[in-house]
Amino acid sequence: VSFEEFKLNKQLLEAVREAGFEKPTPIQAKAIPLALAGHDVLGIAQTGTGKTAAYVLPILMKIKYAQGMHPRALVLAPTRELVMQIEEAILQFGKYTDLRYVCLYGGIGPTTQIEKIQQGVDVIVSTPGRFVDLYSRGAIFVKEIKTMVMDEADKMMDMGFMRQIRSILEILPVKRQNLLFSATFADKVEILSQEFLEFPERIEV
Ligand code: AMP
Repeated sequence: VSFEEFKLNKQLLEAVREAGFEKPTPIQAKAIPLALAGHDVLGIAQTGTGKTAAYVLPILMKIKYAQGMHPRALVLAPTRELVMQIEEAILQFGKYTDLRYVCLYGGIGPTTQIEKIQQGVDVIVSTPGRFVDLYSRGAIFVKEIKTMVMDEADKMMDMGFMRQIRSILEILPVKRQNLLFSATFADKVEILSQEFLEFPERIEV
């Protein structure tokens, strides 16, 4: 397969080309068409397999940019470091779009993050704890979030984020697409996927 075979727009294909990606990795070849078709996806893939682009490209393709104030997609990741890597991918692939995004993580005061949300965002990338914190302060309107990604879900479980993740998934609209990526299919990930994914397409690379 080639990137041109996916239903991506010109802006995204140009950004992919400039990133130097010649052909999709196996996880991308499997996950991108399924995600674009609206399926829930359970992807078992390690870091280094290209999992980030496997969900960032479909998100950038599917959500309408710069419309309204409220986020349409949420990406949860266990650490600030991973949040920042995801930001790199959004910047790389979103360079020809006017996508608005915000990265949320702890360790710094919330004011700047809240102000950025208030300017209107399309995508939120966040650690679970900071998301719950800002939601409980009334800073995030979640009712338009129709796409949800959990990256490194096994690590989020290991770090004890199950409670926060449950409370986040309970406040999101029921009708939404879920994409879950994990390096392993540990018991806790299985529980999470049974609880929150709807007839997921399972892919393993
Ligand atoms: P990830 O597994 O998402 O952390 O990606 C690992 C690295 O592979 C990142 O530096 C990506 O930019 C790179 N990468 C992802 N997909 C491709 C691709 N199709 N071709 C070349 N490099 C890629």
